[in-house]
Amino acid sequence: MDLFEYQGKQFFAQYGIPTSPGGVATTVDEAVSVADKVGYPAVIKAQVQVGGRGKAGGIKIANNSDEAKTHAGNILGMDIKGHLVKRVWVEHASDIEKEYYASFTLDRAAKLHLAMVSAKGGVDIEEVAATDPDAIVKHHVNPLDGITVSEAREIATRAGIDQPAIEGVAEILVKLYDAFVKGDADLVEINPLILTPDHRVHALDAKVTLDDSASFRHPEWEEFRATQEYDGREKLARELGLNYIGLDGTVGIIANGAGLAMSTLDVVNQVGGNAANFLDLGGGADANTMTSALEVINTDHNVKSVLVNIFGGITRCDLIAKGIIEALSRVELNAPLVIRLDGTNAEEARKIIEPYVSDRLIIRPTMLDAARTAVSLANEGDVK
Ligand code: GDP
Ligand code: MG
Repeated sequence: MDLFEYQGKQFFAQYGIPTSPGGVATTVDEAVSVADKVGYPAVIKAQVQVGGRGKAGGIKIANNSDEAKTHAGNILGMDIKGHLVKRVWVEHASDIEKEYYASFTLDRAAKLHLAMVSAKGGVDIEEVAATDPDAIVKHHVNPLDGITVSEAREIATRAGIDQPAIEGVAEILVKLYDAFVKGDADLVEINPLILTPDHRVHALDAKVTLDDSASFRHPEWEEFRATQEYDGREKLARELGLNYIGLDGTVGIIANGAGLAMSTLDVVNQVGGNAANFLDLGGGADANTMTSALEVINTDHNVKSVLVNIFGGITRCDLIAKGIIEALSRVELNAPLVIRLDGTNAEEARKIIEPYVSDRLIIRPTMLDAARTAVSLANEGDVK
């Protein structure tokens, strides 16, 4: 789950990472009253989960209440790269002497945590990585050891952080690592991490991705979840307990196992189609799971055909087939269904489905055949 900047700052505050005093607002009046409270100059920042808000006009400095009113009025309701601004964060504006970058993430290949620190912050870090990769110091942290202040000082020095900021940056790095580990985050990023003319270091922006698999440990995340903007299909899928991600193609996908679901997306692509979603039924899919899956796909009006791709390992294909037939008696599908079943008890499964076969319910012997059929049905639908 990705947090909004203001939530990221709340999250940082729990671990003692310094940020500017501020508040969140959903109306112009609220924004002005927060600005009056934190004092001018105040910065009004669009809360959307997309970078480059500054360039898009979503961050403005106000020197008095009138300016706060104008800026908040312009920013609330603004569209930033397809994201509607429903909230602004208003904080006391900082004087900036230098802008740095700091983050922790997981380096899966190295099986270690990765710190990235740069003296070139404030700009898009991907751009720095592309044009001046040496300006980013990468340092692996062994999760069993953690990171000490002296290590952090060393990283900051290597990154070319200015002398007056070294101590402050080092302290923040240690706290940021603490937030990353104890807070169960997949990513914590501060860009920019600033040095003020009076030589204080603090976080001006916050980007945090929490690890959803750890949510059982964090009842307090409910508050963050309440503001998440899932698309309607994903919301329903979540309620039904499905592993679903909405995409924008026309072929609905149902598979068992995340790997098989990914391959199904690839094969659909390969034969000229586009997947409408990723959906992994998981192991032991029964009629209820299948019904839920078909219900979610049915709410997607872009779907022109549905491809069910099952490989029975531990899962028995005959049980899945019964599940499909049962599910079809409960859900009236808007699009034709193409099924490929292989593996344990596939023969029995085909026998169960055969009596129901029609031009709306098709069985194909291989994944490639099934994908071709589903894609041609979806493309025909486009022409009509
Ligand atoms: P992003 O563009 O979405 O990453 O938003 P940021 O929060 O990183 O802000 C973008 C830029 O706006 C920063 O790099 C700063 O240059 C500027 N900015 C943000 N807050 C302040 C502030 O309090 N004072 C000043 N002077 N500039 C700010
Ligand atoms: Mg930023």
